[in-house]
Order: sequence, then structure tokens, then C-alpha cells
Amino acid sequence: MNLKMYINGEWVNALSGATREIINPANGEVIAVAAEGDQEDAKIAIKVAREAFDSGVWSDLPAKERANYLYKIADKLEERAEMFKELETLDNGKPHREAEFDIGDAVDCFRYYAGLVSKPHGYTYEVADATQAMTVREPVGVCGLITPWNYPLLMGVWKIAPALAAGNTIVYKPSEITPVTSVKLFEIIEEVGIPKGVANLVLGPGPTVGAEIAASHDVDKVSFTGGTKTGREIMKAAAGNIKKISLELGGKSPNIVFADADFETAVDYALFGIFANSGQVCSAGSRLLLEESIHDKFIERLVERAKKIRVGPGYFKSTEMGPLVSKEHMEKVLNYIQIGIEEGAKLVCGGKRLVENELDKGFFVEPTIFVDARPDMRIVQEEIFGPVLVVQKFKDEQEAIELANGTPYGLAAGVFTQDGAKAMRVIKKMRAGICWINTYHPTYNEAPWGGYKQSGIGRGLGTYGYEEFTEVKQININMNVEPTGWFEN
Ligand code: NAD
Repeated sequence: MNLKMYINGEWVNALSGATREIINPANGEVIAVAAEGDQEDAKIAIKVAREAFDSGVWSDLPAKERANYLYKIADKLEERAEMFKELETLDNGKPHREAEFDIGDAVDCFRYYAGLVSKPHGYTYEVADATQAMTVREPVGVCGLITPWNYPLLMGVWKIAPALAAGNTIVYKPSEITPVTSVKLFEIIEEVGIPKGVANLVLGPGPTVGAEIAASHDVDKVSFTGGTKTGREIMKAAAGNIKKISLELGGKSPNIVFADADFETAVDYALFGIFANSGQVCSAGSRLLLEESIHDKFIERLVERAKKIRVGPGYFKSTEMGPLVSKEHMEKVLNYIQIGIEEGAKLVCGGKRLVENELDKGFFVEPTIFVDARPDMRIVQEEIFGPVLVVQKFKDEQEAIELANGTPYGLAAGVFTQDGAKAMRVIKKMRAGICWINTYHPTYNEAPWGGYKQSGIGRGLGTYGYEEFTEVKQININMNVEPTGWFEN
């Protein structure tokens, strides 16, 4: 498979001719060769997107017409869901059932924003006797979209669908290590006939392509999903022309279980919260906070079940947890496990790379659980982004809240209890943008997604996600058309 970039309606190689091998993380084999763009390719795509925006070829279309393009994209994506699923698993490693879910969500996201764009979007205000004020929503302009590798297609779609719906033109840069399904999506974008220059795909690394998108004065907005460290770089680069920014960053989210919770449900979601997508989820419930009185019983059951998770290539039917996305990332995760041991946390499950049954060719790490973790440990404070759960005990509601809020992150939080009032008291104290009660992880295209503190700025999805790709204009209409008389002569 040769993967090219899509710029101004043409499929092109990198100007430099550079390429990158795309690896199947389940066995280390090359599955594709992708164009490896750099600043120069990004500059061309940005210029094209600028010209397309300024021409009005997209933003001047009636909202309903833009929506029709989005519906067509959704239909074609749905028709090809099986292929997208296979490719996502090959590229990222996630089990088929997870990939299938992601593709369904992506289809739904296009339909959601296609439906939303033709709904009412402004307000009117009674401001003075003879003046009527109103607001309208307009596209921001050229939007740079930069995404990570953990949900290669879905993270892109969360941005592409609202950005195009709102009338912007886009320059999209997926993660350089998982570009396959993004290229396939742009084949659909071409097929449905989105005008040339409106949607552009540039492949390549963050420090070149991504940095150019973040810094260019021809880009009006950058919408970024990725690590907090990169988010900080993007914020600085975006300052040059006071770009609008949306940042969906990392997390170290607490999952709090009280003694009165439904035991098996809480155990089940604790596993799902950390081991889904091999823990490579920004909102992963990576810190489990357990009420003292159930701690030992809970850990016993958790470990019993974690040991039975079937780890293997995502394309095996039996697989419940896939590999990590790359060798480099696996090494980072294994290093964190070593740090946890050295810090004195107690390893009660996993902790090693899996090598039997030919898994040594891929990047597999056992479901791993640490207990007796202290708040100051690096494994408690830092995002590991792998199948590593860190458990802490708490005495009462107050301590649970303090531990939960005790990191620089604020993306998500979960609470398990059968006491509704307690659940709400705790959730109200969580400094986190996404909260769950008696569940963990469900995410809906209709509801806003984003973080407090160092987990980000702005919100994706829902009406909020749409507004992030618009500017608000106020318009005042004077109904008493005569001179103001402010100056006498
Ligand atoms: P990353 O920050 O390394 O990379 C993300 C994207 O940014 C990639 O496309 C990369 O090429 C690009 N990039 C890297 N350096 C850049 C630079 N200097 N300028 C511009 N772009 C640059 O993150 P990752 O390792 O790909 O993904 C994992 C991270 O993403 C985790 O921290 C995770 O929590 C976060 N994430 C957050 C959300 C959310 O919704 N909050 C969702 C998914 C992932």
C-alpha cells in the first residue's frame, strides 16, 4: 500500500520524495509506505486551503448543501466499514471489536454534524428602542487539525466533521505512525466531490508538518489532540497570529469506588476503564481509588480477572486486548513499570512484555496493576498511556476527592456508589470535564468532550464542538434611520 497526501484535490508524494514505513504493531511487519511531508508540503496545503476559504467556494454554500456532502461521506464510510475496521486494526493494533466501534462512531459523527449545521445558530437581543441586535455564527477560516495515533480515524473525524460543516477549509495532519484510515477517508472526500482545496491531508511528523500548521499566519485556528507537552508547544507557536486554539490533551483520570458500589459492576468497569485500547485512551481510568474496607477483596477479584484478559493481535477473534502502538511506545510503558517498582509501589499483576506464542514480534505488554501507590509517585502523577493501573486507598469521601484531584490533569473521573446523593456530591467536586457515575468511558457525539486544568482548552463534539469552529458576529440594526446629532456642525 502506497499512501499519498491529498492537496488541492490531487494525490501527491512529499516534495522531498521522503517516505516512512508504516508498521503493524502486532508483528512488526511493514503494512504500507507513506509519503513523509515536511514544512514545504504543509505550506502548500495551507496556501491552497487559504485560497479555497477566501474564494467562498465552501463557506458560501447553503448549510444544507454542505450537510449533503457530509451525509454522503457518512454513507460511504458505512458501506466500507469492514475495510476500515481491518485497516485500523492493522495500523493501530486495536482489537476488531474496538475498531468496529470507532468506525460506527465516525459515521455517526458525520451525520450528527450534517444534521446540526442546518439548525438555528444565533440569538436576537432587545438592546434599545430602535435597535435590534443579533448574532450569527460564521466559519473561523483555515483550520489546522492535528491528531494522535490512539483512535487514528475517529480523532480526525471529531474535527473534520464539525470544521467542514461550519464552512471552514482544513489542513489535516494525522499521526505519522497511523495514517492509513485517514488516507482512505480522503479517498471518500474526493469521491463525494468536496471542492478542490477545501479539505487537504498532509502526512508527516509533528515537529515539521505540525509545527508549520501551528505557526503559520495563514491558519486561523488549530485544533489539536495529543500530549500535554505538545499542546504547550502548539500554544506558543499559535501565539504569532493569535490563532484560535482547541487542545484535547492528556489525562490521569481517577476512578473512585465506594464500599457500597455494586461490586461486580465496579470491578468490570475498573478493568474496562484501564485496559480498553490497551490503556491508550486519554480518559483511561488509570488511577483506581478504593475505599479501604473493600480494597483487598476488590484487588483480589480485579487481579483474578485481569490475568484472564486474552492479549493478542487485534485481528484474532479471541483477542480482548491488543499490542501497544509501537516499539518506542512499548518501551516508554515498560520504563514506567520499572519506575513504579523503584518508587516502591507493589506490583500485583503483570508488569512484563509478552513474548510467548510469537508475541515477541509485536509490542505486547501484560495487563499490569500496582497497589500501595503514594500520591507523590511518578506513576500516580504522570500519564503512562498503557495497560498500567495504579491503585490507591481512601478512608472517606473527603480523602477520595483530594486524591482524585491531586494531579495536574483534569480530563475525566468516575464514581461507583449506590448512594445517588454521594455520587453527585463527589462529582461536583471533581475538577474534570467528563464525569461518569456507575459507568466508565461511554462517549457520545452529542455531548461535549474536553478537559479542565492541563487536560486542555475548549470542547470537542456536540454543539460545543461545532461552536469551536465558528466565530460569533454581532449585528446591530438601527430601525430609526436618521442622523445621530452627536456633533452640532
Ligand atoms: P503527541 O502529542 O506526541 O502527538 C499528537 C500529534 O501532534 C501527532 O500528529 C504529532 O505528529 C503531532 N505533533 C508532535 N509534535 C508536534 C509539534 N511540535 N507541533 C505540532 N504538532 C506536533 O501525542 P501522541 O503520542 O500521538 O498521542 C498520545 C497523547 O494524546 C496522550 O497524551 C493522550 O492523552 C492524548 N490524547 C488526548 C485526547 C483527548 O481527547 N483529550 C484524545 C486522544 C489522545
